[in-house]
Amino acid sequence: MNVKLKTLLNETQHFNGFIYESAELKKITKAFGIQKMELQVMIREHKQRKPYCSQCGQPAPVYDHLPMRDWLHVPLWNIPVRMFYAPRRVDCPTCGITVETMPWNEGKRPYTKAMMIFLCQWARRLSWREVATVFGVSWDAVYRSVTWIVEWGLARRELTGITAVGIDELHIHKGKKADNFATVIYQVDEHYKRLLWIGKRRSARALLGGLKTLGMENLASVRVVVSDMWRPYLAVARKHLSQAVHILDRFHITALLNQAVDKVRRSENYALTGPRRKERLKNTRWLLLKPYAKVRGHARELLNRVIHSTLKTARAWALKDAFAHFWTYNHPRYAKVFLDTWITRALRSRLPPLRKFAKTLRAHEPLIMNWFTFKKAFSSAAVEGLNNKVRVVTRRSYGFKSFHVLEIVLYHTLGKLPEPELTHKF
Ligand SMILES: [Zn+2]
Repeated sequence: MNVKLKTLLNETQHFNGFIYESAELKKITKAFGIQKMELQVMIREHKQRKPYCSQCGQPAPVYDHLPMRDWLHVPLWNIPVRMFYAPRRVDCPTCGITVETMPWNEGKRPYTKAMMIFLCQWARRLSWREVATVFGVSWDAVYRSVTWIVEWGLARRELTGITAVGIDELHIHKGKKADNFATVIYQVDEHYKRLLWIGKRRSARALLGGLKTLGMENLASVRVVVSDMWRPYLAVARKHLSQAVHILDRFHITALLNQAVDKVRRSENYALTGPRRKERLKNTRWLLLKPYAKVRGHARELLNRVIHSTLKTARAWALKDAFAHFWTYNHPRYAKVFLDTWITRALRSRLPPLRKFAKTLRAHEPLIMNWFTFKKAFSSAAVEGLNNKVRVVTRRSYGFKSFHVLEIVLYHTLGKLPEPELTHKF
């Protein structure tokens, strides 16, 4: 069986009005005298077809030819493929003298569209640094390709029919300064979860900026807003998404309760005296925060010793363990009875962090009870799930040079953005 390179090129990507004239394997001498192979593909125009203006897309007569340009294309058998073509300029009746449309080209980029899409697909699975190394391009090439595809997708994505959004903050750098946080908006519909927006800082203004970017008219369909108890967020949601029910979700409440338990443990560990003081709470931090059923083996023994002791930490843990039951109720009325009983118990616990948590619950009780009433209307695990993914991605692109890079990475991996279609999947 004979397969010509031209056939492969035409089968994978045929451009109307253009012809693959030749494809040759060349030896290229790189820096330090290293020889590398490169497939060089010459493209020429179809003589009988008119070129199209790149500005308006209308056919126009040829004006002149520009010098030869080249584009790096998807590699074949790990051999770089470079395409060559001398673009024509056209004399467009509406736009004047412009460059013709080249279907594989995007602006002045030295890569074909197919190559950029190819790099983007890998950039979802590997770090940008790895993609650059594996395919022999620069980090910048990957960055620009992903930026291009993200911008393409953001301009074309569908924003109608969103019924549930989650609002959250994202800790992007060490430290508690406002600049070290970002605000994120997710779509958390039961059947469609994605990142909708990310912006610098955590503030009412940041959130408002995000809502405006998404378009208030697009958000008119939102029925459920899920967030934590951070006041500026609550206020913005109340004012600008007033048609929606606000829900404080399980993820954020559990995180807050865990913080309270941890505070009790820390201050007790600090206050314990006697020769064995260090041993009693040693290595128990994460064990205390995990659900009991998930602690096994030696760790279970260690945990049992603490929770069956007379330590304050044991009482804090017992309250935490009891609270998990709250989420298992089907009927809001019974859940509310449970919640009230639990709050009373926590308030009497003589454990200040738990008392504080109980007071917070009481202050936001209606928003917490909304979780039960509306839990079928949104994906209650989505905020947590998306948050975890965001954290993984942020860590993988550790050392991101600017906020813009982080933004692009997150939209690319979690935005479910539409992408330009290719006839062949490389
Ligand atoms: Zn034109």
